[in-house]
Amino acid sequence: MSDDSRLNLSAATVARVALDVPLPKLFDYRADDATRDDIGARAVVPFGTKRAVGVVVDVASGSDVAPERLRRVERILREEPRLPAEWLDFARFASDYYHEPLGPVILNALPPRLRGPKALPAPPRAFALTGPGRAALATLPRRNARQRALLERLAHGPVDPAELSPPERSQLSRALESGWIEARAPVATRARFIAAHELNAEQRAAAGAVAAEGFGVTVLFGVTGSGKTEVYLGLIARALETGGQALVLVPEIALTPALETAFRERFPGARLVVQTSAMPEVERAAGWLAALEGRADIVLGTRLAVFAPLARLALVVVDEEQDASFKQQEGLRYSARDLAIVRARSAKAPVVLCSATPSVETFHHALSGRYRLIELHHRAVPEARLPAIRLLDLGAHPAREGLAAPLVEAIGERLARGEQALVFLNRRGYAPVLACPACGWVSGCTRCSANMVLHLADRELRCHHCGLAHGVPRACPQCGNPDLLPFGRGTQRIETTLAERFPKARVLRIDRDSARGRAGLEGLLGRAHRREADILVGTQILAKGHHFGRLTLVGVINADAGLFAPDYRAGERSFAQLQQVAGRAGRAELPGEVLIQTRYPHHPLYQSLVRHDYAGFAKSVLAEREKAGFPPFMFEAALRAESRDAERALAFLRRAAALAPASEGAVTLYDPAPMSLARLGGMERGQMLAQSASRPRLQIFLREWTGRLYAERASGVRWHLDVDPTEF
Ligand code: ADP
Ligand code: ZN
Ligand code: ZN
Repeated sequence: MSDDSRLNLSAATVARVALDVPLPKLFDYRADDATRDDIGARAVVPFGTKRAVGVVVDVASGSDVAPERLRRVERILREEPRLPAEWLDFARFASDYYHEPLGPVILNALPPRLRGPKALPAPPRAFALTGPGRAALATLPRRNARQRALLERLAHGPVDPAELSPPERSQLSRALESGWIEARAPVATRARFIAAHELNAEQRAAAGAVAAEGFGVTVLFGVTGSGKTEVYLGLIARALETGGQALVLVPEIALTPALETAFRERFPGARLVVQTSAMPEVERAAGWLAALEGRADIVLGTRLAVFAPLARLALVVVDEEQDASFKQQEGLRYSARDLAIVRARSAKAPVVLCSATPSVETFHHALSGRYRLIELHHRAVPEARLPAIRLLDLGAHPAREGLAAPLVEAIGERLARGEQALVFLNRRGYAPVLACPACGWVSGCTRCSANMVLHLADRELRCHHCGLAHGVPRACPQCGNPDLLPFGRGTQRIETTLAERFPKARVLRIDRDSARGRAGLEGLLGRAHRREADILVGTQILAKGHHFGRLTLVGVINADAGLFAPDYRAGERSFAQLQQVAGRAGRAELPGEVLIQTRYPHHPLYQSLVRHDYAGFAKSVLAEREKAGFPPFMFEAALRAESRDAERALAFLRRAAALAPASEGAVTLYDPAPMSLARLGGMERGQMLAQSASRPRLQIFLREWTGRLYAERASGVRWHLDVDPTEF
């Protein structure tokens, strides 16, 4: 750029705009009336032949862009609330740490509705009962239960729609149309907290140990049912009392309407905002704006909620902090747990990581004193005992159709006593593969390096990785043999087997497939709760947070699959999952029993599990990781490339290796290799791992490296960097 062009522009005011374009740069636009007050505002700008929405992150006089090429901002959306400086700093941190350009980071942190030029949802109103509404309440027939519930709710005064339960909210438009309710300006209410229990001594000590102010990480490590939830709800109440806001992150499958309803019941009057990717766009944007404008007390959400703007953030809670869903696996590959800690630090707020099985990284920090460790050793309900976990040696008791005799017997006993049993198997479908015994053909996916799963209920073969589905072939596509055989078993097959063994029992399968049906997950769980089922068959969708009062037996099938996976995190995940599902047994006065079918009853993982000794297990895992040089003793990043052509992807990685900056031995770069699922959806995927004992040294290396890679031409190849990867 010549000095002349700079001079020409010395008077021009330029808005530097972050756009969702995968380049490590901001885009300059001429904006004569812009001031530094516009930083954080959304702006509509011309981009190529289209218009785009971006965020103004800086206002400067002059630009490196030649004046004739500098285009004008179309509009800065000044009527909208601006993103505060702290939020932009947080986005900058995420961009720096994950080496992802700021534009995509900012735009993808916004709810989808705010990424485009569509009008934003109107500010909230409160709904009040009208005269006709009062009359309707008196005359409306009983069977209109949902309408009645809404009207009854409003009979005591106007209510903010955010405080309504999902079923109540679903009735709003009908009631408005009927003239039974009307919208008004919202009324400020005071949040209250309804404690469900007086905290026991352990819980009180735990709550007391979390300072009300100032940054600090607390690990709330308590056995399932120890009342961790009650502890953190109390901490939220304390934060709200002083006018602060709380951010609560929960795993993907834990955030159900039931959880939202529970929060509303426990915090009447509080302005609760829910943030998930599954919710309607407008609702998500409205909640986000409420948070931005300080009209939210609690933000409850999945990983993406970590980006909710909260100016008065006073507490961060991450429930089930070890859960894999906190790591985003595409776009900005962030860890919401790690970013939650970063946010808490800049807000000078405490953060609480809750788990019965903390990730070993977190556990390591707790042991080393960097985090504060608080343990809850006992179940909160005094009569409830931890379930007895027993290993069922498949060597001594061979399985028939997947079930060993002692497990069948134990299920029979439960049925005789009118109790429930759960058979857990983390594999959907009927059988993981269909095969031809004559020629060796297997039902491989044409787009992935994986087998297609037999779904007998829908007479389909489905790939669980790319979603490809087609009908079950009548005969072997290779040799014409009509007798194809399903190998292995999934939940559907176990469901069938159980129905045959126990013809009088009601068997209910709860997995992602059955939950997609008309009843939905809530409907299925409702049936289980109402004891309309005697035997539940389920995947991990059932493992978390659900309490079934009369469930006294959990049988686990195929647990061994997690023992020998190549991923060094497999053991930890396996333990967490088994402990979680074991925790479903015997929640109340009835004692619970867990039977795990295994070929390796002496495996240390199982031995720790039987003793309910997660701490011991985690320590042994940490010792192994230290010896082998894995996280948390090493820091890692994976550079990945994908292409329709495997050789192209690998060639890119080899070129990248040649571009790697010198690190004087501080960073080890491993050779390119295919990913463990080498082909996905028709793309061939390779990766190379960078490792260092020093996080800052690794960061310096990655900054320089990605700088060079962005400058490279990579035609036909898509690449990305994954810092602190969790999947290989
Ligand atoms: P966790 O989250 O640790 O698994 P929960 O918070 O779900 O445990 O609590 C388990 C059960 O114990 C719940 O039914 C809850 O209502 C009950 N509970 C919690 N605290 C107490 C208490 N102090 N006294 C009696 N019951 C309690
Ligand atoms: Zn064949
Ligand atoms: Zn596939």
